[in-house]
Amino acid sequence: MCEHAVHVALLPNAGMGHLIPFLRLADLLVHHSCRVTLITAKSTVSLAESELLSRFESSFPQINRVDFDLLPFDPTTANSNDPFWLRWESVRRSAHLLIPVLSSISPPLSAFVYDMTLISPMIPVTEALCLQSYILFTSSARMFSLYSYFPCVADGATSASDVLEIPGISPVPTSSIPPLLLVPNSLFGKICTEDGRKLRNLNGVLVNTFEELEAESIEALKLRDGLPPVFALGPFMPCEFEKLKANDGDANSPLKWLNGQPQDSVVYVCFGSRTAMKREQIREMGDGLLKSGCRFLWVVKVKIVDRKEEEELEQVVGEELMKGLKEKGLVVKTWVDQREILGHPSVGGFVSHCGWNSVIEAAWYGVRVLAWPQHGDQKINAEVVERSGLGMWQKDWGWGGEQMVKGEEIGKAIKEIMSNESLKNSAFSVKETARKAVGVGGSCETNLERLIEEWKDKD
Ligand code: UDP
Ligand code: UDP
Repeated sequence: MCEHAVHVALLPNAGMGHLIPFLRLADLLVHHSCRVTLITAKSTVSLAESELLSRFESSFPQINRVDFDLLPFDPTTANSNDPFWLRWESVRRSAHLLIPVLSSISPPLSAFVYDMTLISPMIPVTEALCLQSYILFTSSARMFSLYSYFPCVADGATSASDVLEIPGISPVPTSSIPPLLLVPNSLFGKICTEDGRKLRNLNGVLVNTFEELEAESIEALKLRDGLPPVFALGPFMPCEFEKLKANDGDANSPLKWLNGQPQDSVVYVCFGSRTAMKREQIREMGDGLLKSGCRFLWVVKVKIVDRKEEEELEQVVGEELMKGLKEKGLVVKTWVDQREILGHPSVGGFVSHCGWNSVIEAAWYGVRVLAWPQHGDQKINAEVVERSGLGMWQKDWGWGGEQMVKGEEIGKAIKEIMSNESLKNSAFSVKETARKAVGVGGSCETNLERLIEEWKDKD
């Protein structure tokens, strides 16, 4: 590494949906000759996070790891029982402790890239240190358009209606807005509004997206007043260090099973790292998979945090249904290597909650998506899926838990994505644009070089 390489510190917040894109960004920066320091809270919320961090550490001994010692935290003061939210709050309250940590990192930092959940508490930190301040926004550019516009909504600058008009992008149906943002006086809404107002104090916003996928939103963000520059650095490529070791549970068996299936015949069902479905809905999903007549690989998740997943699948899904399911597919409840599954030739379709990382991965591998957004930003992301031709979205299913979607309907929709040739072709075209974006002269390369030049200039 050269003497004057730029040195960037990265700070993800809790949850695999935040950690994974940060680690992929670290990989990208290292491959562009940057020096990287990774700062993470001392303990992780889930086992999946700590295992991934240790695989990352062995693959990148040259990356400097710094532990963030959090202040003691009383969860009863945070008005939530979501373990990931509680950790976000704990990190927010400990942010000022990073001043001495960041100032003692050697060689001195050129820039600090932190999680989108940490804007208000981190700005005073970077200002105190005269440090370049960036966030990694771990959702879509369309979601960032909404997020950055949200303070105007909270100020009452727009009237209540069925759609939200945001300059430069197609209108956002009110029903797609993260429900917590619409709850009057919710803590979540307050934090988003407060953070949204401070975006102008940042030097830039990094997003894991690419122009061909989200041209409209990326263009609109360039023209919006009062926003820092937005760098579309995606698609972040799935990386080798993510590969599960053979002894990580029985996570190798999905791959073995996939090897025995015909090309493009399997539908993969997974709702990300932290979405647990209700029992009854899980059973309808199982019924739907049987009714679809397709081969499937289904990851069942009953608890938000992995450490507590103790129940047997037979108990969750039901013994009778499990018997039927085993004949046509594979059902697991462990962490799987989604990267390897989506990249497997036998996988053709993906029933997804549309967490943004899952969407980008589906685009990267050209796997068509049946979108079933469950909460948060996922309907906004499902809009991107639908418009780009990556998949289809059964809008009348609503948010997760809003209604009981019957197996009959699920089966019909799965059959449709697996047999629809034009969807297959359009998902394949999205893959081609994703590959082009990371190629020589592609948008990822160009935007990243522009960012690194900015960091060098300000060194
Ligand atoms: N993932 C995985 N194996 C699993 C579940 C999830 O590898 O069993 C990965 C998935 O590939 C993605 C991330 O975890 O990179 C989940 O992020 P996403 O934004 O899709 O959803 P979230 O978990 O934040 O809701
Ligand atoms: N949350 C909470 N109490 C609040 C505000 C938010 O528990 O007052 C939690 C909520 O349970 C939700 C999370 O914060 O799970 C917000 O996550 P969202 O789904 O919007 O974003 P993501 O985790 O997908 O990035």
